[in-house]
Amino acid sequence: MNNTTNTFDTLGLDSAILKAVASEGYTRPTPIQAQAIPAVLEGHDVLAAAQTGTGKTAGFTLPLLQRLSQTPRRSGPRQIRALVLTPTRELAAQVAESVRTYGKNLKIRSTVVYGGVGIEPQKRAIAKGCEIVIATPGRLLDLANQKAVDLSAVETLILDEADRMLDMGFIHDIKKIIAQTPAQRQTLLFSATFSSEIKRLASGMLKDPVLIEVARQNTTAEQVSQKVHHVDRHRKQELLIRMIRENDWKQVLVFTRTKHGANKLSKQLDAAGIRSEAIHGNKTQNARMKALKSFKENRVRVLVATDIAARGIDIAALPHVVNFELPNVAEDYVHRIGRTGRAGSDGEALSLVCVDEHQLLRNIERFIKVEIPKISTEGFEVDPSIRPEPIQNGRNNRGRCGSGRGRSHNRSGGRSSQSRHSRSAR
Ligand code: AMP
Repeated sequence: MNNTTNTFDTLGLDSAILKAVASEGYTRPTPIQAQAIPAVLEGHDVLAAAQTGTGKTAGFTLPLLQRLSQTPRRSGPRQIRALVLTPTRELAAQVAESVRTYGKNLKIRSTVVYGGVGIEPQKRAIAKGCEIVIATPGRLLDLANQKAVDLSAVETLILDEADRMLDMGFIHDIKKIIAQTPAQRQTLLFSATFSSEIKRLASGMLKDPVLIEVARQNTTAEQVSQKVHHVDRHRKQELLIRMIRENDWKQVLVFTRTKHGANKLSKQLDAAGIRSEAIHGNKTQNARMKALKSFKENRVRVLVATDIAARGIDIAALPHVVNFELPNVAEDYVHRIGRTGRAGSDGEALSLVCVDEHQLLRNIERFIKVEIPKISTEGFEVDPSIRPEPIQNGRNNRGRCGSGRGRSHNRSGGRSSQSRHSRSAR
């Protein structure tokens, strides 16, 4: 496969699709697009290691649209010919948006379904007929159980952010969904990392896949400049406010570990005259979408998010990501900083690390195989007399997870109860 292709014209895409790509302002395919588009067009299964920000969505959406528009649908009502599974509602909504954008010159209908909103309108949308369904696993299975979706005509199945779906305990749902699709189908699996669990899943569902790897395994996006600032626990918000003001940051995504922490920080930022919004699993889908829109449109300067809520957030060229608290899971660090430096633009990821988090930092540095450069600020020197305290992960939220209606407590996906508990507070 050609890795150096530098125009879209040579990838085998139709003019209707090329027109849509051009109107997005894309001039050159990203490496994953250069590799995935021809492979998918040729009908191969694909196993791709690619993080958010690499352009993977267009990498599968463009050739998918082309294949659907080239091969006529069977006569009679529209059947679901392609299914995209995503771990979160936000990612589902974003993929659906991409499908609409890239397919605007085609006669292909798509529908997005996810939990947290009413099921009836989704049933009606599917009953009207569509070729592409983008879905989170839980809601799709609910619809399937109610006989509201028929997956027997699916030609292409796409698992986006498969590692995340496994992390969130969706493995059983995914297997049940796959069992409802024809064995004769094209399958594309995208994952930021390749754990043994992912390899097992892939070997069971992919046939002779084309392997695509655009970033080295478990490494962070290269164009992101990473920094660590050691600071005392209770001075983090003061330092953050100072950095936002002094550097005149206009759009910052800040990660906290818990929902409570996100709300608290957002209030502190507002009190300092820095407009912010918090998004996390306790907010309704509409509230999360609204906050994201305000942020994208620069009406809100800081978006404070927990890992699960921020998953899949797509903001082109987000310049600053701040880890107000380090994540407990080293892999989440990679996902977090993947929000910046997207598709070729530069980004900066700053982590504010207090004495409680030294072990987490060591775990992250070992995981990404990089020692992150340290910076300091005058007046914010660390007080060596402060002793480490256990990390608080939030309370009273046991068993709730970000992806849908609190059903996730049965979906631990094989993680330890410690880690499950820590995820529940997000
Ligand atoms: P993704 O990795 O699919 O989440 O895409 C990351 C971002 O890159 C999105 O904002 C896309 O709109 C953008 N993008 C995708 N393909 C290209 C391209 N060929 N050139 C420039 N930007 C792109």
